[in-house]
Amino acid sequence: MALIVQKYGGTSVGTPARIQRVADRVARERRAGHELVVVVSAMADTTDELLALAERISAEPRRRHPRELDMLLTAGERIAMALLAMAIRDRDVEAISLTGSQAAIITDNVHTGARIEEVRATRVREELKRGRVVIVAGFQGVSREREVTTLGRGGSDTTAVALAAALGAERCDIFTDVDGVYTADPRRVPSARRIPLIDFQEMVELATSGAQVLHPRAVEIGARFHVPIRVLSSFRDDDGGGTLITRKEHGMEHLALTGLASESGHVRLVLRGLPVGMGATAEVLTRLADAGVSVDIVEQADRADGRRQLQITVREDALAEAKQICERLIADLEGERLEVQPGLARIALVGSGMHDRPGVYAQIFRALIAAGIEVHALSASAISIAVLVDAEREQEALRVLHHAFGLGEEQP
Ligand code: ADP
Ligand code: ASP
Ligand code: MG
Repeated sequence: MALIVQKYGGTSVGTPARIQRVADRVARERRAGHELVVVVSAMADTTDELLALAERISAEPRRRHPRELDMLLTAGERIAMALLAMAIRDRDVEAISLTGSQAAIITDNVHTGARIEEVRATRVREELKRGRVVIVAGFQGVSREREVTTLGRGGSDTTAVALAAALGAERCDIFTDVDGVYTADPRRVPSARRIPLIDFQEMVELATSGAQVLHPRAVEIGARFHVPIRVLSSFRDDDGGGTLITRKEHGMEHLALTGLASESGHVRLVLRGLPVGMGATAEVLTRLADAGVSVDIVEQADRADGRRQLQITVREDALAEAKQICERLIADLEGERLEVQPGLARIALVGSGMHDRPGVYAQIFRALIAAGIEVHALSASAISIAVLVDAEREQEALRVLHHAFGLGEEQP
């Protein structure tokens, strides 16, 4: 008898009829003899509606009332878990719902963006022993100060994988509104194809680069604790194969590129006329780091007149802070000026096979230039290349690159 953790996202529990469908699936699996822990998200749009409600009461609730916002948002998952427990019990299967706090998902105290520190899950184990299906509210936990916290948008995936790791589950099945992880967001790139098997590292890269289908921290936990994760559709009766995210295996390496992900809301800052030498760049990066601004791309070039140009990219929500710091630095270092280019999207090409394959950069630039899309910045890691393009061209850039690398074609 295997212990399986299942997670159902907001769309999958979006209506009473869909909750009934999920209950059918859970009852079926339970009758097949599996021990089940089921993590649920809030019903579709609930979290957005609760946020909007808070904003009608008070401006910037996230900044001004993070604790109360967490109290409010956790109600969404509580509704879904109670309704699902009722539906399962109506099928003569024993079930009980637990909040994140009852399940003892212990987090730090950072409201609206807490990180899980420990999953005690004592009550979960007890209820499993009683033969019950245990339904746990996703996206929430409790701090050591006994405050209710949330894990950040999309965090129910992380609850599920963390529980699977703590309970030693055989695997964690993430049920959502697509039948797997695709080579690009299928809503934006119609020719995207399902990826049957992907390794943790590539999936972390896709998820952190904006592939919404999985919360990045869920994948990181899966990698660390060796929990195989499957992404499946809750709308199909067969599972359709889905996508298995697992450790790298032989035979997973033959493709140069695995998939694309993108995210808008990036800004490029160009600091012109800085003094040459390592000092200036280090100073800029240190001051940004001290202010908690995370920098994505860093490029520098020396001009013929002996001055240096430094280019960095940050997320738009850090722009005000980054701009202030850079302006002050230019004054301190007697640089020339700061240029700010907002409205950029970051497109990531992910694939561990790209690393030492010649011609990948050429292929990217040829494809984008042919479509008249300019690249404003570029960075590379061992398994990815990222380009910054104008946000209005994001979707087009995705489609152009998807086509150029043959991602929509049948793989051998
Ligand atoms: P849930 O509510 O079940 O957590 P999400 O909306 O968070 O679902 O994630 C599923 C969505 O992620 C899909 O509807 C799809 O549009 C989007 N998505 C983005 N990138 C990808 C990708 N590479 N593969 C599959 N889906 C993706
Ligand atoms: N309900 C939360 C959100 O919408 C968490 C989740 O669905 O994973 O972000
Ligand atoms: Mg999600």
